[in-house]
Amino acid sequence: MQTEITELLKNVIHPETGENIVDGGFVDNISADDTKITVSLRFKKARDPFAAKIKTQVQTLLAEHYPAVAEHITVFVKEAAPAAAPRPERRTTTERIDKIVAVASGKGGVGKSTVTANLAVTLRNMGYRVGLLDADIYGPSQPKMFGCEGYIPDAERIDGQDYIVPAEVKGIKLMSIGFFIRPTDALLWRGAMATNALKQLVHQTLWGELDFLLIDLPPGTGDIHLSIISELKIDGAVIVSTPQQVAVADVVRGVEMFRHENVNIPVLGIIENMSWFTPAELPDNRYYIFGHGGAKRYAAECDVDFLGDIPIIQSVMEGSDEGIPAVETDGAVSGFYRQAAEKVVYKLSKNG
Ligand code: ADP
Repeated sequence: MQTEITELLKNVIHPETGENIVDGGFVDNISADDTKITVSLRFKKARDPFAAKIKTQVQTLLAEHYPAVAEHITVFVKEAAPAAAPRPERRTTTERIDKIVAVASGKGGVGKSTVTANLAVTLRNMGYRVGLLDADIYGPSQPKMFGCEGYIPDAERIDGQDYIVPAEVKGIKLMSIGFFIRPTDALLWRGAMATNALKQLVHQTLWGELDFLLIDLPPGTGDIHLSIISELKIDGAVIVSTPQQVAVADVVRGVEMFRHENVNIPVLGIIENMSWFTPAELPDNRYYIFGHGGAKRYAAECDVDFLGDIPIIQSVMEGSDEGIPAVETDGAVSGFYRQAAEKVVYKLSKNG
């Protein structure tokens, strides 16, 4: 019966590799008798996006062919142990990073990169070792935010492996796709090219030992997100939105992408940016130019935590332009970020 089942499972094709799951080595074990069938599948990637689909296909196929035991068919999905990961010759440099946090947004221009940079500096000010990966292929702005646009990464060869040396600004390790491409070229990059370059940055940057790696993702949801998500074990996602963007479909899609059963990344919460405006001459007045409380309401409705709100402040904009994130120079701004960062740290520690 085992042989028969093996033959049957050859009809299931892994969409990414194009191979059937038997020859592709995804079938780990089959045990079968007249009363039950148990199949375990092992995926090489930690989070194979096709795992759930393939599991259902196997289940359906077996139930069709063995209707007598249809109620007693079990299909297990196992994730590859790190030691069994593919390409063991390419050791990843993310092993010594404690927590990896993705920062995402539904749309561009909401301040995702600004928030990521300021969160990174805040975490460093709290005493953590921090790295930042700027994966925003459509607008890599971290080099500018940290004033290191001219940085040309060095390669270093250690034990026969090539590594990329990140920039180090104010004690933060920074790697950006922007170090490798001219801004005008970014839009010409095809999906696969961008994905491959990002994979290299993820696995070959000499991060060293870090408490947090923040990833500035491109806006929206797409192939690049899925590829980063499948390459890395991301511990949580932070969503950045402006008040007027929060309820729109893009943000909802972002949250759903992380929560998808195949992705399963905890959404740590939403940070509302550009929440209100306070003119310098009326420091106690708050003008909610884009509406008030949208993110809080959305957060409550969708069961996402609200991590904090950050007003429109000139120093934030100037900080980005001058290469010094505003939390370095503006006490009010650093207070807002401190609250958000503490919640992020707390939520990650709770998730284990
Ligand atoms: P994204 O990464 O979402 O595309 P950016 O971080 O590049 O957005 O921000 C877009 C613009 O808005 C930048 O010029 C930035 O300086 C400005 N900005 C972001 N947040 C604030 C804020 N809280 N107050 C004032 N300007 C801000």
